[in-house]
Amino acid sequence: MILVTGGCGYIGSHCVISLLNQNKKVAVIDNFVNSDKSVLKKINLISKKNILFYEGDLRQKSFLSDVFNKHNFETVFHFAGLKSLSESYKNPLEYFSANINSTINLLQTMQKYKVYNLIFSSSATVYGKDHPLPWTENIKLKFPESPYAQSKVFIENLLLKYYQSDMNFKVGILRYFNPIGCHSSGLIGDRIDGSTNLIPSIMLYLLGKKPYLPIYGNDYKTKDGSGIRDYIHVDDLVNGHIGALKYIIEKKGVHIWNLGSGKGYSVFQIVSKFEEHYKKRIFKKVMPRREGDLSEYWADISKAGKELNWSPSLDIDKMILDSLNHLKKLKEANL
Ligand code: NAD
Ligand code: UDP
Repeated sequence: MILVTGGCGYIGSHCVISLLNQNKKVAVIDNFVNSDKSVLKKINLISKKNILFYEGDLRQKSFLSDVFNKHNFETVFHFAGLKSLSESYKNPLEYFSANINSTINLLQTMQKYKVYNLIFSSSATVYGKDHPLPWTENIKLKFPESPYAQSKVFIENLLLKYYQSDMNFKVGILRYFNPIGCHSSGLIGDRIDGSTNLIPSIMLYLLGKKPYLPIYGNDYKTKDGSGIRDYIHVDDLVNGHIGALKYIIEKKGVHIWNLGSGKGYSVFQIVSKFEEHYKKRIFKKVMPRREGDLSEYWADISKAGKELNWSPSLDIDKMILDSLNHLKKLKEANL
């Protein structure tokens, strides 16, 4: 059986569906700090299968032990954590606690119950800035600025140190670039309310909840002056997890892979793709650069390509069409 922490969240819920489609037995832990119970129903609706669900916080060790006591887990996919870079500056202690303390509890419980396979959600933010493009996994990490990115660097180091103390441990660290899009049903997706990320921001505008779309900077030294990122469809991202699990089962150790599309798109390019597919002009307002934003970066994905036999198959149009399908469902549900 596989344990998915944060399985009601954006990426976790997509991973759970993929695992259920492969007839794996899945249990989910979530405390709903950034999701809600309705996701469970939607997972059942899409997969036509039931999952075991435990509501609780990874920081409660007795709760974790109770869950591990009930099942023979062989693998943990660890998605649970807080993910907003800007929020992490406002509330660093909560970010360190939710991300680091949770992971320590999880590892101690895994150790106690002899569960050795772990796939961990890291982030491209660990790289910090000023690296040649595209970014490769062997870039030497400088301590990044945001408490969010710091928590991910800390956890990556923690996983390495734990492995050095117990070589039964097998870990895949996945450094995500910018996951977007959603399941083709449109039923589940990234939470948009309260999000400051680009796609949720466009969706909020299209739902009429924003008078304009802010463009944070049009004076970067990029092809059109706006910021460039590496967007990857969440389904491709999830496939990378499945490949990573196969790999770590065969090869012990701590392995790190970038998961992105390997291509960069600018904010203006993304917005015009939305305009094209939604057939509506988006009213844009150029604002000052967002603090801490980098001008451009994208991933070198050749390591994942070679070692995991993985490559993304869904292009930017599919990412945006699926996001628009999700928007349609949100409108129908009057959300
Ligand atoms: P999400 O917020 O949608 O999902 C995380 C889930 O974990 C939520 O359902 C939340 O309720 C739960 N959770 C949080 N803290 C918990 C705790 N202490 N105990 C139990 N449950 C808890 O986030 P996501 O986009 O699905 O991201 C998943 C992981 O991937 C996170 O670790 C995030 O940092 C990482 N990541 C995400 C992105 C992205 O753009 N979405 C990029 C890079 C890395
Ligand atoms: N962005 C923007 N307007 C928004 C939200 C984001 O112009 O309302 C830009 C942001 O400055 C960056 C890109 O879109 O250049 C991606 O931002 P996002 O927050 O989605 O991801 P991240 O910056 O974390 O990579």
